[in-house]
Amino acid sequence: MSIYRIAIVGAGPAGYFAAQALQNSGNEERTFAIDMIERLPTPWGLVRSGVAPDHPKIKTVSKVFEKIATSENFRLFGNVELGTDINTADLVERYDAVIIATGSSLGRKLGIPGENLQGSLSAADFVPWYNGHPDYKDLDVLVDCDTAVVIGAGNVAMDVARMLALEPHELDETDTADHALEVLRRSKIRRVILCARRGAEHAAFTAPELRELSKLEHTNVIIHKSDIEDARARVGETPEKDVKSNLDAMSLVADMAPTNHERTFEFEYLLAPLEIHGTDRVEEIVLGVNKIDGDKVVATGETKTIKCGLVISAIGYEAESISGVPYLKGKVANTEGHVEGTNIYAVGWAKRGPSGVIGTNKSDASEVIKLLISQLPANPKNNGDVTDLLTGHPIVTQSHWEKINTAEVEMGEPLGKPRVKAVERAHLLHLGGL
Ligand code: NAP
Repeated sequence: MSIYRIAIVGAGPAGYFAAQALQNSGNEERTFAIDMIERLPTPWGLVRSGVAPDHPKIKTVSKVFEKIATSENFRLFGNVELGTDINTADLVERYDAVIIATGSSLGRKLGIPGENLQGSLSAADFVPWYNGHPDYKDLDVLVDCDTAVVIGAGNVAMDVARMLALEPHELDETDTADHALEVLRRSKIRRVILCARRGAEHAAFTAPELRELSKLEHTNVIIHKSDIEDARARVGETPEKDVKSNLDAMSLVADMAPTNHERTFEFEYLLAPLEIHGTDRVEEIVLGVNKIDGDKVVATGETKTIKCGLVISAIGYEAESISGVPYLKGKVANTEGHVEGTNIYAVGWAKRGPSGVIGTNKSDASEVIKLLISQLPANPKNNGDVTDLLTGHPIVTQSHWEKINTAEVEMGEPLGKPRVKAVERAHLLHLGGL
């Protein structure tokens, strides 16, 4: 029986699904010993620090991750950063294959004047802030204003806008970070405007997320019927299935009777950000009014200015580079998941860019693992692992993580929450018994 050692860097959905595909590919002749390396003291990646706290069902996939992690020949090396505590070369030398599953954590820039003003944030910072990611706990989120503008028409923009627009009590029984709850409770924001640069038919939202909006109990969600009618006229009788589902879901919201709630969440189409103005902080955003001309979206030359104190852009992500791994256009430079001429592979957003839902990573990882297995040498290297490089370093193993997990869940129980997240690294290590 040959045992191949595989290092997976990043304990998010893509990393776990890669591990699962390896576990499922073992046979009588060959098996895999998996070391999963994660820079945070906690695993689960975006399931912990990305998925919106008011969407707990999506997080139940963590049960699958725990099953993978407690299978034979799997070790978690949490609190270990590639590039700081160990190097890519260490992994490449010692392991038969190295799988980069570190996602895309940097927010794409709008590239417009005023973007760096105080009060202008990226969803790449705001989302991990409300989800208790240790690196973002001190983010300055300005909520002393009436209006916030969210840029982008994807599910992240929708999560961000919803988190700002809902009544904070709706988050009481969620695992929203305590520091974020405190800020959201004193928020003066009553109007959240989501601006999409193209038409409703081009929006990247998915229909289930749009339909969920009708469940907001304390917020008027405003989608203008005329925007949907215009979009329907443009797509004709036989739109693509996803476009039809989205427009149907938007109509459902547009047809809802208006209520007297003081909080509103409005969708505006065909507005592209041009400039953010303000002396010391964001005071207004200027957007160019677009129109659709055939199959093109073009500027009309007109502008619309919205007075606001907070702008959050949710326009996609790029991967943060790891030294020793080649990158191209915001992702690992790879061919079908393989970094040519190396034993390095990439899965998930690190491989394909920031697209797809959590489940997309399962089929994606399984294809990459097939390729990896087809390229394995006849015999394993037997070159050891990284444990000797980490002597004295506090490593969060699976059993330490289980202690953290239990402690967080127990802190949540009396409050009716799924967990209370610890957000300081030292606190997390302490909960883990380290
Ligand atoms: P996304 O779906 O790619 O959406 C990005 C949005 O940003 C698009 O509407 C895009 O508009 C817009 N945009 C890009 N550059 C822009 C610019 N310069 N100015 C104005 N708008 C700009 O990305 P995402 O929302 O970050 O989501 C990433 C992935 O995670 C998606 O696959 C998403 O479905 C998934 N996700 C899923 C869930 C869920 O299932 N509940 C939750 C969150 C995220 P154009 O189309 O015009 O380029």
